[in-house]
Order: sequence, then structure tokens, then C-alpha cells
Amino acid sequence: MPEVKNFDCVIIGGGMIGAASALALAQLGLTIAIVEKTPPEEFSSSQPLDLRVSAISIASENLLTQLDAWQQIKQWRVCPYQRLSVWEQEYAYTEFNAQDIQQSHLGHIVENRLIQLSLWQQIVKHNNITLFCPQTLTSFTQNENNVEVELDKITLNAKLLIAADGANSKVRSLANIGITGWDYQQSAMLIKVKTQLPQQNITWQQFLPTGPVAMLPMPTVVISKQNNAEQNSLNQDKSENIYQGNASLVWYHQKNEIKRLSSLSNSQLQQKILQTFPKRLGDIFVENKASFPLTRRHANQYQQGRVLLLGDAAHTINPLAGQGVNLGFKDVLALQTIIAEAIGNGLCWSDINVLAGYEQKRRTDNLLMMSAMDGFYTAFSHPSSLLKALRNSALFISNKIPLVKERVLKHACGID
Ligand SMILES: Cc1cc2nc3c(=O)[nH]c(=O)nc-3n(C[C@H](O)[C@H](O)[C@H](O)COP(=O)(O)OP(=O)(O)OC[C@H]3O[C@@H](n4cnc5c(N)ncnc54)[C@H](O)[C@@H]3O)c2cc1C
Repeated sequence: MPEVKNFDCVIIGGGMIGAASALALAQLGLTIAIVEKTPPEEFSSSQPLDLRVSAISIASENLLTQLDAWQQIKQWRVCPYQRLSVWEQEYAYTEFNAQDIQQSHLGHIVENRLIQLSLWQQIVKHNNITLFCPQTLTSFTQNENNVEVELDKITLNAKLLIAADGANSKVRSLANIGITGWDYQQSAMLIKVKTQLPQQNITWQQFLPTGPVAMLPMPTVVISKQNNAEQNSLNQDKSENIYQGNASLVWYHQKNEIKRLSSLSNSQLQQKILQTFPKRLGDIFVENKASFPLTRRHANQYQQGRVLLLGDAAHTINPLAGQGVNLGFKDVLALQTIIAEAIGNGLCWSDINVLAGYEQKRRTDNLLMMSAMDGFYTAFSHPSSLLKALRNSALFISNKIPLVKERVLKHACGID
């Protein structure tokens, strides 16, 4: 017989959203089991920057601060940005500035692993949270009062099961929750580069007929002697001093073209980038690359009895405006709020009707953001010259109307 352990809540997936959920619910006094198959790699300041990064909004930063994770992330390495620009034609170049909404910054570019790692450091210190890692979900069953979760040789018994196991959620498929979505027929290539320009305070995106190209600024890294030697050999005839900054580039294109670009050597890719990306990028040196298919998925329901879906398990969105994980953090805050309110009002927090409040709070907001991104993406991919004139005029006009700019910006930062 497998050993049985009892908790208030079991969370499958210890990525950014699962880890944040564990801390948010433990803050309310709930006992939590969190199950993850792969632990994040420890941090060392000499490590090169990861490819997987996120643009963390002010609202997400506030949540990470509340969970005592932000201070450590900031001490490791982050890159704040004060400006954000978007354009297709140069005349319609539109720039948003943190000053427009009386903030010191619009967000930070942060490596996903560092967010997860800092949350994990808080998790291991927390008496209410037990980490099962490396472990994986085998199956689960639920009845009116409980969920029984089977891991390898352990059974976890709880009142709530949270699926934070990402886009291909096993919990979601075991619960037979369907998804609606589509494949955009495009892929995104992430490219880590060194830049001749020093660390920048702007993130930009230009719409090209083949899809957008974007630049996210990255922090400066102190590289160890060993890594420096590797860097020098990579730089070959170029002096490393030419490249003062770091950036993450995103290149959207047809799937086949991204496949072809991925097969190029770094120096060939570098030439292609210099030919395609706007001149404001300056000279660059390609260090690393990876590509991802673009898919939209939305779970048909976020709740099935005692099972709730959060983060990418519930929704994946076009990464165009860097909102994916920010929507997931909003899910975490919504769940924490409805459970806190139930406890505060003397209600049973695990009542199915209380848990239903989570989906009520989140579905419309997620759907709106997903649809807005799709609308934007479709409008900017259409080759019609009339539509091209219209969308550039819309950008041009929005650049001139402070109230419009302020509303768009506040929503993107999650502070409206
Ligand atoms: C190209 C690209 C660029 C992006 N850029 C941005 C951006 O700039 N800003 C932004 O906000 N978002 C961005 N996103 C989206 C963002 O990366 C995701 O929204 C985010 O990673 C989702 O976090 P999550 O914790 O829900 O899922 P995941 O990060 O997928 O974590 C799921 C975790 O569950 C674990 N797991 C899975 N199955 C099991 C199992 N059976 N048992 C145990 N553990 C399991 C996995 O190991 C993993 O650790 C981007 C996405 C892409 C593809």
C-alpha cells in the first residue's frame, strides 16, 4: 500500500505559477504539497543569461514582492525598462514611457528560471509547504469532499488540486477538460545576443510583413574567467569590448522559415538579423537561439469539481505583448483573494461554490487579453494596403492622444 499524506491543497507543477500559488495559499494558513518533475538549476552570477525570459509587469512584481521573492530576483539580475515602442512604418513610431503613467519603470525583463528559483527558496523555508521533487503525477480521483493524487509510491489526499503543469497539462487531460485554440502557423525564435549598444532602457517591436521582430533588453553580466575564455574564442576576430550590452531578440516568421533560420550557424544568423531587424538594433553578436511554435489554447473550463487550472494549464497566449506569465500571476492573486475572502467571512474555503469564484474572476479577463492579442496580430499581418494605412494611422493617432496611451499602458502594466 502506498503511503498516504494529507494536505489542504496539492499543486502539480512547480514552475513560476505553481510555485507562486503554493506561497500565496500558504500565506493563508493552508497546508500545501507541490509536485515537480525537474528542480531549477541553482544560481551563480557567472552563469550566462538564459534564453527563456519574461517581461514582468508592475502587477506581477507586486505579487512577487508580496511573496518575498522579488528582492532576491532583483539582487541576482533583472533589467528594468522605462520605455516601450511599437511601429510598422517609421512615421507611425509610437513610444510609451513610464512617465506617462507616473511610474519609475514599465516592467523588468527577468529570466524565468530566476523567478522560479527565488520562489523555491521561499517554499523550502515555509513550514506549511512540502515539496515533492523529482516526482510526477500518475493519476487522480475526486469525490464530493476530497481529491486523491497518485504519485510514484505516494498518495496525496487534499481538498483542492491545482493544475499548474503548463501548456500540455496532464491534470487537464486526466480531468477530460477540452481546449479551444489554434495554431498560428508561425513560430517564434528567441535569440540571445550581445549588443554594441550598452544596456538599454527600452523594449521595442516592429511589425514586418512576415511577422514582428522584437528586442528585449537584458542585464549586464559579470562573466567568470573561464566563460570569458569561451567568449573570446567565440568572438574570434572581434574584440569582446565591442559588445557592451545583452539583449533577447524575438523573430516571428512562418514555421518553415524559422526552421531554416534555426539551422543556420550563429554567424550566418547574425548576418540575417542585421539585414532584417531595424537599424536601431546596432551591431550584435549571436550567442544562442531556440524556437517555439505559436499556439493559442484556452481550457473550456478552469474548474472541474475540486480541480482548478492556473497559468499555462488554463491558457496560452500569443507572446506578442509578453503577457503570458503575467496572466498566470493574475490567476494566482485571484485564487488567493477568493479563498482569503471565504476564510474572512467564516465560510468553508474549499466549498465548490467558493472555488467557482476563481473562474468567474479570471475567464473574461484572460479571454479579453487573448482576443486583443489575436486582433492585433491579425490586423498587423494582413497584406491589404488599405489596412496597412489604417493600422499605421491608428498607431500615429494613439501616439498623439495622452489619455489613450495612458489607458493602454496601465492595462499592459496591470495597474488599471
Ligand atoms: C516564445 C515565448 C516567449 C514568451 N515570452 C513571455 C514574456 O515575455 N512574458 C510573459 O509573461 N510570458 C511569456 N511567455 C509565456 C510564459 O513563458 C508562460 O506563460 C509561463 O512559463 C507559464 O508558466 P507556468 O508555470 O504556468 O507553466 P510552465 O512554465 O510550463 O511550468 C510548468 C511546470 O510543471 C512541471 N510539470 C509538468 N507536468 C508535470 C507533471 N506531470 N508532474 C510534475 N511536474 C510537472 C514542469 O516541469 C514545469 O516546471 C512566453 C512564451 C513563449 C513560448
